[in-house]
This record gives sequence, C-alpha cells and structure tokens, in this order.
Amino acid sequence: MYDRILIRFGDLTLKGKNQNDFIRQLYKMLEEKLAGLPVVLEKKHDHAYVLLNGYDYNLVIDRLNLVAGIYSYSLVKKIARDLEVLKVEALNYVNELVTKPTTFKIETKRADKSFPLQSPAISKEISSYILKNNKLVKVDVHNPELEIRIEVRSDGIYLFNGQIRGLGGYPTGIAGKGLLMLSGGIDSPVAGFLAMKQGIKIECIHFESTPLTSIESAQKVIDLVKKMAKYAPGNKILLHMVPFKNMHMALLDKVPESYNITIMRRMMYRIATKVAEKNNDLVLINGESVGQVASQTLQSMATINEVTNIPVIRPLATYDKVDIIALSRKIDAFNISIKPFEDCCTVYVPKAPATAPKAYRARHYEEAFDFNTLVEEAVNNTKSIWVSTDTDLDLSMYGLEVGEAIAEYNKTK
Ligand code: ATP
Ligand code: MG
Repeated sequence: MYDRILIRFGDLTLKGKNQNDFIRQLYKMLEEKLAGLPVVLEKKHDHAYVLLNGYDYNLVIDRLNLVAGIYSYSLVKKIARDLEVLKVEALNYVNELVTKPTTFKIETKRADKSFPLQSPAISKEISSYILKNNKLVKVDVHNPELEIRIEVRSDGIYLFNGQIRGLGGYPTGIAGKGLLMLSGGIDSPVAGFLAMKQGIKIECIHFESTPLTSIESAQKVIDLVKKMAKYAPGNKILLHMVPFKNMHMALLDKVPESYNITIMRRMMYRIATKVAEKNNDLVLINGESVGQVASQTLQSMATINEVTNIPVIRPLATYDKVDIIALSRKIDAFNISIKPFEDCCTVYVPKAPATAPKAYRARHYEEAFDFNTLVEEAVNNTKSIWVSTDTDLDLSMYGLEVGEAIAEYNKTK
C-alpha cells in the first residue's frame, strides 16, 4: 500500500551555511547508501522521499539506518489532490491497518494553502467518511491508537501514520576528521560509531604487539573496521596499524608493574597524536568510560591525557556497560568484539595497577628508557590500509608479520 518513504532531517535548528552543508552531505550519504537499489531519491528542501517502485520498504529502511542525520521516516502513500479520492484512499488505508476495534484520529496539515478546504474541515470530512464505512473504528482525539496523517502539498496529498526514528545526529563527514583508538574490545567500535553519528569522519589506529599477542587479535580489528565501514562515507575507513611490540617489551622491562598500563597508555596517546597530526585528524576518539577499569579513573585519565594537546573525545565516558553492549549489537560488532583473543591490554595484566597514578611519577618512570626513539620508530613503521565493507584481507594467509602482510595486501589492490 505504500509507494514511498518520507525522510525527515535531523537538527534543522542549524542556520545558513551549516544547514546547507548538513543537507548536501546528507544527500550524498543517502545516494551512496541507496546505490544499487531500484528506488529513486526525490530531494526536497527540508525533507526527501524514497520512491519505492514496488521494492520492499524493509530493505530500504535497512539502508536508511546507516545514514546519520535522518531524524525520522514514515511509510507514505501519495494520492491525487482531490477530496473524493482522498476519502476513498483514506478509508482503504484504515481498512488495511485495522483488524480489531481501534480508536483513531485524523491530523491534517495543509502545506499548500491554495487547497480550498482548511485543515480542520478536511480532518472532519475524512473522519466522518471513515466512521460511516468502517465499523471497527471510533474517534479519540486525545489518545488515539491510530493517528492518520494527511499532508496536502502542491503536488499531491500524502497519507501516512507513525514515525520511525532514524539514527539522528549529523551526516558523517560534516564535522571533520578524527582518529579513533580502536582495540579489539566492545567499547571502542561503539565509540567510533557514535563519533560518526555526530558527523565525524573517522580513521582508526590500532597498536598491535604480535607476536606477543596473537595474529587473530589484529585480524579482529580489521573485521571490526569492516563493520564500522558501512556507516562511513564511501563505505570505507582508513586503518593505521602501529607495530607496538618493541615499545611493549620495553615497558615490561623498564617500568614498575603498577604503572605499566598508565605508561603504556601515555605511549599510545603520544603515538596517536603524531599519527593524527600527520593525517590531519583534528581530535582523538577512544572508548574510555569513567570508572570502568583502573586506567579509566579520573585521576588516571588526567595522568594519561597529559601527554597530548589535541582534544580527546570520549563518547562513552558516561555510558553504562549494558547500553554500550546494546549499541555494539546494533552495529553488529558484538560477536567480533567478544572473540577471546588477547590484545596488548589483556596480555600481562598487572596484578595491582595503580588506580590513582600520578603524572610526576609516570614522568619519572619514563626517564628509565629512551621512549622517544621507540615512539618515532612506531610512527615511521605504521602501515595504513583502507578497509571497506568487502575487504577480504585474512592476515593468517600471509605467514608474515602484520605490517608486512598489510603491505603485501595493498600491492594487490
Ligand atoms: P575496549 O572495549 O574498547 O577495548 P576497554 O574497556 O577494554 O575498551 P581499555 O582496554 O582500558 O578499555 O582501553 C580503553 C581505550 O583505549 C579503548 O576503548 C581504546 O579506545 C583504546 N585502546 C586500548 N587498547 C588499544 C589498542 N591496542 N589499540 C588502539 N587503541 C586501544
Ligand atoms: Mg580493551
């Protein structure tokens, strides 16, 4: 019965140029995500339609749910601008939706004032016609179970009911570019999704310590980026794979156990800051959540954050784990994240990590070794790879270390 989907845009409290940028990027993303489907995108100034051409609307909705900046959408039937046609079609519409006694209400919006009847009069005409011809329905203007919406526009009349919430947020890309610190865990992919939803185009950085950690833990990260890529412009995300083994070994060797995680994370921030600067990423993004583990107490965050001066965005800072897991499932990352391979933060976990590490002590312990050289070496040996939704890189096929495997794979592309 529906022939189109009405798409309502998100934050249109934006003004002027920002609003134009919003709409332009939203349309770009919509076109990308709908590509390949036999539907037509009809662009209006502050809303859009997807003409279904008989195609299954559920499959279109799956695609719309990849596009940030959509506030909501509705399944719509467009009919001729004629009161008699409207009566018949509205009745058909109700007949199809109603199978048991139901209260309803008609809500009319006359966007085109040249239509002869005013909104309340249209609502009245249509509801009395429906009441006369469908014995299951009763009017309830305050608390209806079914609200039929009629919108009179210059090119036709639109009939719909209900609104399905879209992703919300801002079209991915309009806010600029950030660097997501991506582990193989549950949190950081969700943080990346939320950043994209807020308009940030992301690149990812991962610190891999093979062979101290397994090759599968690096593969997990590639697989997680594949899952995130469906939300990204071009369905692809640049992943920077940092060889972290030498740094990792130096930390295990030179730093007191209780400060190991703190200093490891300071090193990660230092390297990420340099990689961000090289790639024009304006912010770092990570999956830290206040209080979750020892390295995420406020004192700990302060001590770790000290080593960088670019902004760090922590989308999950105040999230409950259950809500993070729900989002992880929603983006289809959960089953990858829970695969039990060790990463650099789970291997050699100190028995008693400092929960309130002091910056001056961290600085003192860092004097024990020449970490700047290790930072430079890690940055210089970082290998980058574009990961798309259909990237087929299987690291275990190469029998090489991770960076070399990526370099070989890139040659084939
Ligand atoms: P996650 O579920 O994302 O792994 P977590 O709760 O396990 O998070 P930590 O392991 O302390 O927390 O890591 C906190 C954040 O630091 C991660 O969310 C991620 O952003 C970043 N991070 C941790 N390990 C790595 C890594 N090997 N490479 C890149 N980023 C990392
Ligand atoms: Mg982790």
